[in-house]
Amino acid sequence: MMASDSETGQVSNTLRWHCSEGHQRDAKFDYLKRGNRWCPTCNEMLMQQARKTELRDTAAKQGGKVLSEKIRDMKSEVRLECTNGHQSSTSFSGVRYKGTWCPSCAQKTRANFKHLTTVDAQKASETHGGHLLSST
Ligand SMILES: [Zn+2]
Ligand SMILES: [Zn+2]
Repeated sequence: MMASDSETGQVSNTLRWHCSEGHQRDAKFDYLKRGNRWCPTCNEMLMQQARKTELRDTAAKQGGKVLSEKIRDMKSEVRLECTNGHQSSTSFSGVRYKGTWCPSCAQKTRANFKHLTTVDAQKASETHGGHLLSST
């Protein structure tokens, strides 16, 4: 009763084609017909290149360098080296969204910052108190 066989029986034309860089792909004719001619391999290479460039830019700002050659996706591990020679691994998204660069340095900076602010706060309050007294 249900004519499901005629639906699934359609021929799916798979075509082999290659992009200007010579990457061979098998793609459904429909896929190409919809205008998706962009080669996924080329696309992936471009994306990797873009991620690498972004990391290099960050490295230039933070000081240090990117040790990983390939950054496959947002979650793939990235090896970094900071200006102090600490090596660490993080993910691309960690660098981009969380600003993770060198965990060792970050910890030290945080500790220093905490220390400084406590000392500064004490100094400030002392100075402030002294100043207040002398000004009246
Ligand atoms: Zn290609
Ligand atoms: Zn470091």
